[in-house]
Amino acid sequence: MKTLEEVAQRVSVCTDCPLSENRNKAVAGEGPKDADIMFIGEGPGFHEDREGRPFVGPSGRILGELIHSIGLKRVDVFISNVVKCRPPNNRDPLPVEIAACRKFLDKQLELIQPKVVVTLGRHSMGRFLPNEPIGRNRGKVRSIEGVQVYPVYHPAAALRNQNLKRVLEEDFKVIPSLVLRSSGRNHLGDETGEQLSLFQQGS
Ligand code: URA
Repeated sequence: MKTLEEVAQRVSVCTDCPLSENRNKAVAGEGPKDADIMFIGEGPGFHEDREGRPFVGPSGRILGELIHSIGLKRVDVFISNVVKCRPPNNRDPLPVEIAACRKFLDKQLELIQPKVVVTLGRHSMGRFLPNEPIGRNRGKVRSIEGVQVYPVYHPAAALRNQNLKRVLEEDFKVIPSLVLRSSGRNHLGDETGEQLSLFQQGS
């Protein structure tokens, strides 16, 4: 797999785990190929499975609000998941399913080379910090595999709990500074100037 399009193509026909048997559409992920920020969720839900796009249901509405709250738009960031097919009844993805799908997420990370990876929820955090509790790690940035990894709660938590929504909002406020302080491994030339304009163009 040499391009994001090729990853998406391979995802769409993948039968490497049983989740493929009941999927309507696989959800490879979407966003710019040179995105500075990559959000990684858990896996498609009902709406995502129908549309073939990540975070288009109620959790997606929250994620969109959070992205807007830091001056960005959805189209500015790459959004992916640890598993690309919907687990039945939205159950947690199994370790064997996450393992089977890992090659796709790994390739997306390698191709995009984001400055910041924001993991949404504990399954996504587990890709980088296995067996760690999310409560103790959310809102703390770590350098892992050469990228800044920033775990936050899953947006679905904000649908159920206003306190967690406030925690998510506070944690999101830190994201622009993580991009700005990054050493600049991507395409941008004048890093600081370009990056500031990135956060001003959102609404
Ligand atoms: N929840 C996720 O973790 N990912 C999606 O794409 C949608 C909902």
